[in-house]
Amino acid sequence: MAAPTAAPDRPAPAGPLEPAPILKRIRWGGTKLGTLLGKELGEGNDWAESWEIADHGDDQTVVTAGRYAGWPLGRLVKERPRELFGRHATKPDGSPRTQFPLLIKFLDAADTLSVQVHPNDAQAVRYDPQENGKTEAWVIVDAEPGASLYAGLKPGTDAEALRSASEAGTVADLLHKFEVRAGDCVFIPAGTVHAIGAGVVLAEIQQSSDLTFRLYDWGYLDPQGNPREIHLDDSIACTDFDRGPVDPVSPRPLPGPSERSERLVEGEYFVIDRHQAREAFPLPGDDRFRVVMTLVGSATLTGGPEPIALRPGKTVLVPAECEPLTVEPGPEGVTVLDSYLPD
Ligand SMILES: [Zn+2]
Repeated sequence: MAAPTAAPDRPAPAGPLEPAPILKRIRWGGTKLGTLLGKELGEGNDWAESWEIADHGDDQTVVTAGRYAGWPLGRLVKERPRELFGRHATKPDGSPRTQFPLLIKFLDAADTLSVQVHPNDAQAVRYDPQENGKTEAWVIVDAEPGASLYAGLKPGTDAEALRSASEAGTVADLLHKFEVRAGDCVFIPAGTVHAIGAGVVLAEIQQSSDLTFRLYDWGYLDPQGNPREIHLDDSIACTDFDRGPVDPVSPRPLPGPSERSERLVEGEYFVIDRHQAREAFPLPGDDRFRVVMTLVGSATLTGGPEPIALRPGKTVLVPAECEPLTVEPGPEGVTVLDSYLPD
């Protein structure tokens, strides 16, 4: 009798993926992506964004090690959908996935970003049939004393008030503003007017989309002395005026898997859990991909072909088909975010 053999088209899982980040220089950036999050920065002090997991047009994070070394994320989506996505290999409407659904970044706002708003899915396709809406969430990694975020409009603000404030340069007066501290999480559904204030470093989990409409730019002039374009009509068309002030979420305690596990966000587009641990804990494995971002401390991710060192700024993409993994914290403990698609 022949011994059972593995099906040739179903090799053993490749294990967790370590994509190389894509670093972006923008005028509001700084140097904390290097000093706090271990990114290799070049010259300059305007390092604004580190795209950790990206499949958006030409912005493709590339796997650095293992069987898929050299593969851009978009190739994995098209050629390994079952291994990568598991239960989510097809979209809710039954069509195959053509793009990785989440865009994962770290941001360093040394200066305040423009006041902006993103469209929802239905609005986005009117601007670009290939684009998605953008619902996003922020988890604060570091905040200077007094550093603030702006999220949502003050109660009673309507389109006319927003339009005249934009023209008068007083939009900030209509925005809900609050100070933040490391660990705060803010959920920004599409249509929520928002801005990130100076002195904030954060992790950003969002729908894969690059549609942003600028409502107000604080009077900023580019190096040639010109103001940047303001998309007033598009901003107002995409703003959800029923959405009032937005404050940080209240984390919901989870029974596990770590000593302190919490659900930060549970939305239509993604779920974000946070695990803070000193003892080893199993990473949940339930036939879906997970994005693991390390925020504080250190750990070793074991169970894959090679152990992976986790330290602040390290992001790992765990495919749906993966051996059971364990997070083994270093002596100072570890804090990780675990982001994934809802059922
Ligand atoms: Zn945004």
